[in-house]
Amino acid sequence: MMRQYELVERVRKYNPRVDEDLLNRAYVYAMKAHGAQTRASGDPYFSHPLEVAAILTDLKLDDATIVAAVLHDTIEDTDATHEEIERLFGKQIGHLVDGLTKIEKLDLVSKQARQGENFRKLLMAVAEDVRVLLVKLADRLHNMRTLHFVPPEKRARIAQETLDIYAPLAGRIGMQRLRDELEELAFRHLSPEAHQAISERLRDLRAKNGRAIRRVEEELTEEFAKRGIEAAVAGRQKAPYSVWRKMERKSISFEQLSDIFGFRIIVGGVEDCYRALGVVHTKWPSVPGRFKDYISTPKQNDYRSLHTTVIGPGHQRVELQIRTAEMHEIARFGIAAHALYKDAAGDEGREELAKESRAFRWLQETLDLLSHGDSPEEFLEHTRLELFQDQVFCFTPKGGLIALPRGATPIDFAYAVHTKLGNSAVGAKINGRVAPVLSHLQNGDEVEIIRAEGHIPPVAWETAVATGKARAAIRRATRESVRQQFAGLGRQIVERAFERANRVFSEDRLKAALPRLARASLEDVLAAVGRGEIYSGDVVKALYPDFTEDRKVTQTPIRPGEPGWFGVKANANVVFKAPGAGGADAIPIRGLSGDAPVSFAPIGGAVPGDRIVGILTQGEGVTIYPIQSPSLTAFDDQPERWLDVRWDIDTERRELFPARVVAQAMNEPGALGALATLIGETGANIDNISFRAHSPDFREMTFDLEVADLKHLTAVIAKLRESPLVSKVERVIG
Ligand code: MN
Repeated sequence: MMRQYELVERVRKYNPRVDEDLLNRAYVYAMKAHGAQTRASGDPYFSHPLEVAAILTDLKLDDATIVAAVLHDTIEDTDATHEEIERLFGKQIGHLVDGLTKIEKLDLVSKQARQGENFRKLLMAVAEDVRVLLVKLADRLHNMRTLHFVPPEKRARIAQETLDIYAPLAGRIGMQRLRDELEELAFRHLSPEAHQAISERLRDLRAKNGRAIRRVEEELTEEFAKRGIEAAVAGRQKAPYSVWRKMERKSISFEQLSDIFGFRIIVGGVEDCYRALGVVHTKWPSVPGRFKDYISTPKQNDYRSLHTTVIGPGHQRVELQIRTAEMHEIARFGIAAHALYKDAAGDEGREELAKESRAFRWLQETLDLLSHGDSPEEFLEHTRLELFQDQVFCFTPKGGLIALPRGATPIDFAYAVHTKLGNSAVGAKINGRVAPVLSHLQNGDEVEIIRAEGHIPPVAWETAVATGKARAAIRRATRESVRQQFAGLGRQIVERAFERANRVFSEDRLKAALPRLARASLEDVLAAVGRGEIYSGDVVKALYPDFTEDRKVTQTPIRPGEPGWFGVKANANVVFKAPGAGGADAIPIRGLSGDAPVSFAPIGGAVPGDRIVGILTQGEGVTIYPIQSPSLTAFDDQPERWLDVRWDIDTERRELFPARVVAQAMNEPGALGALATLIGETGANIDNISFRAHSPDFREMTFDLEVADLKHLTAVIAKLRESPLVSKVERVIG
């Protein structure tokens, strides 16, 4: 436990004019008042107010705040009274302790009405003097640090309240460091498994990327020194909770997070910030749309910095924040960083602080609302909206609250409510008026979704929506509609086959025959027929085993590796490259820069321009499939394995991607060489060629290619189609 003289020394370090006598009297008074009381940890209760005071000395706060912290639990938990404290320590301290007592036992996660009322009480106490909030936040921080001693059934409520109310409040008044720690502790208690998993991944990454981080630090430091800019550069890793929040908000996996590392550059003056930015942007290309100037336009909580993202060494995205030492102080300590709080208080101090601090002005404006007689619920809602700046809160017609990231559209809203609602959404009313479905939602909007059954979301929505959930759902829905088209086609083919065979087609009989066809459902069989995977005659046979076909049947396709296939190497004028060369880490899929191995679909691959999804296989990594790949059917019932991935193409490097085409060519000497030459002329590589006799007149040639993108592949196919030797060319996607 901290000794009396230690407390005084801590304050004296930043405030030589410390009122030693005042601190000593408070120490002794609180120690006597708490007497033999103990905490859940078994420690003397008095250790708690002392730790709270210690946290506030780190923020370099004035004597009155430190004393109020030492005394903060005396009225609530001991015989001490407001009058006595005021008599012994003066009006100001009496007021602070009284304010803290009023909010001590407020339950902020109770039923809606009480919660609103309690939150109002909290802010009213804070309105009297912002230092009440500073002590309260330090009190909560110490309680969170010692939460593991509290009975488990109480922990969740305290952690939830911290995450819902106190952490955002700390952020709103600019106390980022305190906010980070509160969130970290609450997250650890609320989702211990997620916390552990993310922490472990971050640790692995740190071990792996430590050298790269130091390299960036060194390169930047050297570059700044050359230009005469004095700067401290420090690499850092995101906190587990902020990683988690991002994964949740964007519904993406850990592997898809691209900005887990960031760098902070602290320079001498405002001008140096912009000079340093110039150096960074000259050295590495910047990512468009990621530059933000919070120096000329500070955030509402007084935060100032330059933000940018560049493509750094090894083509890694690197996030940078550039700021002065003073901006850094405010970014960490917020309101508490304002020099005024070191000794000023009262109306004058308040006015001064209001001038200096936007965060304080926000607090005052919010408190002004209290006098407008809003109902507690309305008040809570309003304050919540103000607290969470990076989110928009919208309402269903029944009053349900839906939280979405900024930039979200009614389509995101619909998918957030329910996937079915999203899939059938065709229009929206915002606040009672018809509005475009892709307009940006604002805080407080009431959104009504207009639906039409059987509607398929247009492919274009996929890139217009803001949430990963909506994006993934739209992909699946469009894929599902492709499947239905195949099923429709398959049904026609099957019905014709039964007619030809002069047998009766019945769905019930087909259902009974599913095991023989090795398919899970009627739909699956029809879609497989539509795609040409099952021959319609085999369906007839499955229902009527006695059925024999007298017509000549085209041979079913033989896949590579099966008997009947044989590969040949391409000849002279085309580049032959062994499959798999280039390495998996060269695959430019956005968000998959983590350590999961990435590969392309084994048959036919995928090329930029294809819409793609990633399928996660535990212990093996991620496989990229074009969205129309029939192999994806196998994962339909495992949505947890589907990853929302995108191409992330570097236009400077010309990379090539696997694709397969099959051509029906005339069975003539030299045909193979002629086609290989045509392909070579387009600049595509040939990895492998296989062919088989299709009929006496034709040969089916399968080319495994490497092309730049979909346009390139289309050009290759067009070129082959022009050849008089070729009757038919198609891309193969397995
Ligand atoms: Mn306390």
